[in-house]
Amino acid sequence: MPGHRVLTPTGARPDTASPRATARAVTDVCGLIGLGLAAPDAAPALEAVARDFQIRVTPAMLAAIGTPGDPVARQFVPSAAELEAGADTLPDPIGDLAHQPAPGLTHRYPDRVILHVTRTCDVYCRFCFRREVVGESGPLPEADLAAALAYIRATPAIREVILTGGDPLTLSPRRLRALFAEIGAIGHVEVIRIHSRGPVVAPERIDAALIAALRSVPVLYLVVHANHANELTPAACAALARLADAGVPLLAQTVLLRGINDSAGALADLFRALVRQRVTPYYLHHCDLAQGASHFRTTIAEGQQIMAELRGRLSGLCLPAYVLDIPGGFGKVPMLPGYVTETATGQYILRDHQGRQHAYRDPERQGLRPLAWASIAP
Ligand code: SF4
Repeated sequence: MPGHRVLTPTGARPDTASPRATARAVTDVCGLIGLGLAAPDAAPALEAVARDFQIRVTPAMLAAIGTPGDPVARQFVPSAAELEAGADTLPDPIGDLAHQPAPGLTHRYPDRVILHVTRTCDVYCRFCFRREVVGESGPLPEADLAAALAYIRATPAIREVILTGGDPLTLSPRRLRALFAEIGAIGHVEVIRIHSRGPVVAPERIDAALIAALRSVPVLYLVVHANHANELTPAACAALARLADAGVPLLAQTVLLRGINDSAGALADLFRALVRQRVTPYYLHHCDLAQGASHFRTTIAEGQQIMAELRGRLSGLCLPAYVLDIPGGFGKVPMLPGYVTETATGQYILRDHQGRQHAYRDPERQGLRPLAWASIAP
């Protein structure tokens, strides 16, 4: 609908009003200190963090930060807590490598694959579950992409190709079009899905050339990653409106993050704001066991309580599925009775889509021993 009115979240500040409006992304500790987002005496610890997982905050997200330490800042500004090893963490939390038939390709469920088309992102989220592999190394090498496409061609059960990364929308429209053409030529692939943070964190990317590339695919879904209503700046809302007006189906995924959105109020604001932008909340992910990200994890009981409160106050249109990726690569489990059984305080048995059982524990700081997750014979 051309001319659709762009609805912004209640209380959202215009981007231009930000005291931190910059033309360029901030990519180092010095830049964060200069903008008042990190304390000078924290520099040595933050430099150590940045050696393991780099920093990148776009102008759009700098504009969305109200005060240091607010729910947007915490997602992108590193903290010394990332240096804590966390006995319960894993380098490959959701087991991408356990199901890798070709470099850059994950085949976990029969009818769909994940193609990691690039390792670059517009921002580096401090809780990223792929933080061990995500960085500035750019697009998947041509030979690896060719091998991945050959596997998809040779596997007729695959109906859906999910492009992720990194962030696929950091690729140029020309490169995306070429990739879409290659995938589109595979007769058994019916759907392309893209997971991206781009429309929110780099809304200027959503231009006519990119939209034309997305529209070259007959059936394409774009899943936008957003975690707090404050991320939905006027520029982000305008980008989402351009996509919706162009007929691109929009879904959203959100990570449940301690200290950022772990309340029914914060999530209700976000999900309502997304629906106002014609984006349907799809998944609420329980935070994964990424190294250096333990401080972002809630307990399962906290997540279930929040979902129960949301169910009482939100339309079904605003309610995503709350899911956890079982460590080790056993797929997603909905956080529902029958799939999740609490056996003692903070200790659970998870049942995966094949009926296999896996032990799981809440974060260590809840007074429990370090996490010991393990598969159990059905
Ligand atoms: S945009 Fe996604 S892949 Fe990139 S750092 Fe954030 S969570 Fe990780």
